[in-house]
Amino acid sequence: MTPLAAKIIWFLGCVAWFIIRYPHQRRSRKTPISQRAQGSRDRVLLAISFTGLFIIPLFYVVTGEPRFADYRFQPVLAVIGTLLFAATMWLFYRVHRELGRSWSVTLEIRDQHALVTHGLYKYVRHPMYTAFWMWGLAQLLLLPNWVAGLAGLVGFGILYFCRIGPEEQLMLDVFGDDYRAYMERTKKIIPRVY
Ligand code: SAH
Repeated sequence: MTPLAAKIIWFLGCVAWFIIRYPHQRRSRKTPISQRAQGSRDRVLLAISFTGLFIIPLFYVVTGEPRFADYRFQPVLAVIGTLLFAATMWLFYRVHRELGRSWSVTLEIRDQHALVTHGLYKYVRHPMYTAFWMWGLAQLLLLPNWVAGLAGLVGFGILYFCRIGPEEQLMLDVFGDDYRAYMERTKKIIPRVY
């Protein structure tokens, strides 16, 4: 594994993510929304996350900047990062299928929104966020630059910690005791742990 190969793998992972998400994005546009929470605040959080997971690493991959933050490339870390990124995409694919019409890029409730508690949602309430944490970690392992490597974890971390409370509150407002009971038997992002 060379630094160039790791950069290409990072980019291909982003393309794979786009291909997995595209049909859900299209369907989502056609599914009427019945309730929305934290509208503009949530959009800002999404922009921060996108910058960390895509814009900053893309800038690094294309220009090699910021060079002061470079460190020695470790092939073994990049191999682990590749496997982790592949696992992330598999998780994305499954979670999108399981969440189906209930998925939205922002905090929204759709017409006939179904509470999903099956599949991976049986173990954790936020498996899609698990996948984004894994993505951030894969980015850190693939790109030997502290700024570009850590940007994903920082950017997504800001979205995660600012959104998780309002998202669970929205679900409680809409699904009440069903969601409360679901919360009691599940963890947030790591089965049995957190
Ligand atoms: N936090 C979840 C979903 C992310 S997508 C995950 O990480 O897997 C965000 C949208 O999913 C929100 O608009 C919310 O309405 C919806 N949502 C979150 N959890 C849900 C669930 N268990 N069932 C149905 N919809 C859910």
